[in-house]
Amino acid sequence: MTEPLVEIQSVSHSFGPHRVLEAISLDIAPASYTVLLGPSGSGKTTLLNILGGFLTPSEGRVLIKGTDCTALAPARRPTTTVFQDYALFPHMTVGANVAFGLRMRGVGRGERRRRALETLEIVGLDHVETRKPHELSGGQRQRVALARALVVEPALLLLDEPLGALDLKLRRQMQDELKAIQKRVGTVFVHVTHDQEEAMALADLCVVMSEGHIEDMGPPERVYRRPRTRFTATFMGEST
Ligand code: ADP
Repeated sequence: MTEPLVEIQSVSHSFGPHRVLEAISLDIAPASYTVLLGPSGSGKTTLLNILGGFLTPSEGRVLIKGTDCTALAPARRPTTTVFQDYALFPHMTVGANVAFGLRMRGVGRGERRRRALETLEIVGLDHVETRKPHELSGGQRQRVALARALVVEPALLLLDEPLGALDLKLRRQMQDELKAIQKRVGTVFVHVTHDQEEAMALADLCVVMSEGHIEDMGPPERVYRRPRTRFTATFMGEST
């Protein structure tokens, strides 16, 4: 069997007395699209923040490419995160937004521009390099945020409800694009959503969460057709 790219080993987390993750163990294979699916409050974002280094778990370990990253700061681990609100810099052009992470890593100007353009091309936006974020549509801004996270070639890309701000039609269109982009770049994507249809469309591995634990995980078709728990059956049957 191939070595997993990410190993989450018995991760638990509490906020004060409130236990929100309970002994989560999960392996994520290279080049795969993993979706963390569950209702609001089930602990998806907390787990994503632990993967991204924004939170250190109360217990357990996170290994990325075999290295213990549990207590490493976000900038020191091979991960980048796309937040729901995109957090683009409004005063910078699209090209400068995408190149920003490279500037932080000391990459020279010519190389920054080349890699920013190359990444914008992957998300289909090389023609808007000189525009400002406010001149773009919601879907385009989402793709700029994706390019900005991909440009540094992370081993792991983390997406927190990345399509949450879009209307339903655009959401369905963007989910197909996300999947195509992930297959093209081969980076592992871990994507948080409460939308069952989004999970079905995107996931290679669908991890269903409830109240801080994993209810079920596997290929989305299996999870949908042969759910292992009553919770999963009920939750997968609900539409958003
Ligand atoms: P989800 O992403 O599935 O909606 P979260 O991981 O955001 O779930 O939250 C899981 C639980 O942890 C919720 O009960 C939430 O209220 C609680 N929680 C999340 N962040 C914090 C925090 N910073 N402080 C205290 N409680 C928190």
